[in-house]
Amino acid sequence: MHTIVAMQSGPHCRQNSKMSAVIVVHGGAWAIPDDLAKASVDGVKAAAAEGFAVLRNGGAAMDAVESAVRALEDNDVFNAGHGATLNAEGEVEMDAIIMDGRTLACGAVLSVKNIANPVSLARAVMEKTDHVALTDTGANMFAQSIGMATVPTDELVTSYQRKEWEKHKKYLTGVKEDFNTQWAHDTVGAVAVDCSGNVACATSTGGIRNKMVGRVGDSPVIGCGGYADNLSGAVSCTGHGESILKVTLARLILSHVEQGKSVEEASNMALQYMGERVRGAGGVVVVSPKGQWASAFTTQRMAWAAVANEVLYYGLEPGEKRKEHLS
Ligand code: ASP
Repeated sequence: MHTIVAMQSGPHCRQNSKMSAVIVVHGGAWAIPDDLAKASVDGVKAAAAEGFAVLRNGGAAMDAVESAVRALEDNDVFNAGHGATLNAEGEVEMDAIIMDGRTLACGAVLSVKNIANPVSLARAVMEKTDHVALTDTGANMFAQSIGMATVPTDELVTSYQRKEWEKHKKYLTGVKEDFNTQWAHDTVGAVAVDCSGNVACATSTGGIRNKMVGRVGDSPVIGCGGYADNLSGAVSCTGHGESILKVTLARLILSHVEQGKSVEEASNMALQYMGERVRGAGGVVVVSPKGQWASAFTTQRMAWAAVANEVLYYGLEPGEKRKEHLS
């Protein structure tokens, strides 16, 4: 087990608020190569600051996680939105989820192709339809019906991802093999608690490189890639989707919290269980309604950042926790 950080945040919402707001984001758990390390850390720091700006002004946890994840989707160093990884046919297929801990309302999109910010489409599914999840063509038809702009799919494909796809396309058994951190790539996610004690989560991904066409991992599945409940907390996951699905990782962590474990202990226990039970590795960010937070991973690296009490915390390596004052 690598890194765990957790702490109780102090008050920094409006003076009349008893609650404290916290945001924690991740940029994917995998063997992040050195040439992407700095950009990954800079990206999560900027996204956490952006999400926290929403909370600082008394904004809702849902708005904070959506804003942080949009920033990560727009940053092409991450495998979500611009910069999404490519499937076996060399195409983008993205998944996203968002969940509101107040009501358990949730929205998800699966296998969408030409949407720049799948997290916002997931939120629209939650708010504007009677459903929880839409896939592929249906998701696109819905996007069109609400006037959400589409982008040519090629615009989402970076030359880095195209080159990686060329390099790896001969290893088509990727997702069937024992977990290899090289295959999990830079999913993004955020969890937050706002000044009213409401929690929310959001996760967005291009999935796993060279996945079969139509493959869906954990990210858009409730209780697997994310979960949020004001009674226990919010979780966003990253890592080997097939493993995360088997152990329902996000919900498993919150079950431990419900049984009295801290968010740190709960994250450790669940990641350890996933490693032992299905030999899967991954990472999580967690926040409780009281502002306890944790970041944990069992892969080689995970870029993460948190803002609590006007202090920005971040790390990449196992055990690394740096901090600086938010500018
Ligand atoms: N969990 C994502 C998936 O399996 C990949 C990742 O987190 O990097 O689609």
